[in-house]
Amino acid sequence: MRVGILGGGQLGWMTILEGRKLGFEFLVLDKNPNSPASRIADRWFPPEKVEEFRELCDVITAEFEHVEEEVLEKVSEKMRPRAELILMKRSRVEEKKTLFRLGYPLPRFVWGTGSELKEMVNLIGPPVVVKRDSMGYDGKGQWRVSSVKEVKGLGEDEKFVVEEFVDFEAEVSVIGVRDMWGNIRTFPLTENHHSDGILLHNRTRTTPEVEREAVELVKSLMEDLKVVGLLAVELFLTRNGKLLINEVAPRPHNTGHYTLDGTETSQFENLLRAVCGLPLGSTRLKTPAGMVNILGLDLEDFSPEEILKIEGAKLYWYGKEKRPRRKMGHVNVVGRSEEEVSVKIKKVLSLLYPKETKKS
Ligand code: AMP
Repeated sequence: MRVGILGGGQLGWMTILEGRKLGFEFLVLDKNPNSPASRIADRWFPPEKVEEFRELCDVITAEFEHVEEEVLEKVSEKMRPRAELILMKRSRVEEKKTLFRLGYPLPRFVWGTGSELKEMVNLIGPPVVVKRDSMGYDGKGQWRVSSVKEVKGLGEDEKFVVEEFVDFEAEVSVIGVRDMWGNIRTFPLTENHHSDGILLHNRTRTTPEVEREAVELVKSLMEDLKVVGLLAVELFLTRNGKLLINEVAPRPHNTGHYTLDGTETSQFENLLRAVCGLPLGSTRLKTPAGMVNILGLDLEDFSPEEILKIEGAKLYWYGKEKRPRRKMGHVNVVGRSEEEVSVKIKKVLSLLYPKETKKS
């Protein structure tokens, strides 16, 4: 089987590492030949060579939604999940409208252009979160606004979503996988902790009632959207116990990196099984697990040896050029209990970010 991947980032890198054991070949389409997945692919293609790439692939999936529209159009007949889902994910407005139309629970929101921002903020009522329609990820292109006066200098014609600021009890996510015949499995729920809009760490959390509701929601959404592949759903658990969808992603997700060590089959392997027509693997949790992102650090900026001394800790290093707050790698940890995992996460955080952890 020859699998094409749109995007050369770490999600593609982990998909290839996991897919090698199934004997697949991987072709990556990305501008950068040195990106993590491009470097380990059997072949790398720049976007100009999309036709040749398409002809050589049996199936094409995406690890990144910000692919040019012309590229998506050219590969759409071989795409799993459907190219329309990737297109939907490129626009927060389209994503919100789709979920709203289907009747899923969301924070209150309105959308419009920059010239209408003040009215939109007043309509929802501060504090609100203003989010750019496109290229918004890892906290980029979004601002918490407590007063209408703070809203200025944004593009007049640009589209934005304005939504209520949710004073949540926790952020959680569930990732589902669906095959071509409609079989669905879901990965265990995780509780996620962000810092300035970027995921910093997460771990599996046993909350049967919340998980049951989240799993039902993810299954129903995967059916409504006819996903073949993965769907990650990030949710806010409000203080009165309601679940609201923050975001969805039809691809491998950062909150599922723990599945490489925590579940019987990883999100990456199950993505490949789903899009290649193979039976889905078990998503059972082998042991409580968690993950810490390595943000904006090089291998010289911390001690990998100290991390690896922690029993059950695994280092994943993507080999990217260092930039402030960029996702450079991650550490997975497993333990006998959720408490043990939490203690290990704290230890990893203190080794990676000694200044920040001392402050808190
Ligand atoms: P996003 O890029 O939309 O996933 O946002 C990144 C993070 O910003 C989320 O995981 C939350 O921690 C925070 N955030 C986004 N939207 C809201 C909201 N409406 N209310 C409170 N926090 C939010």
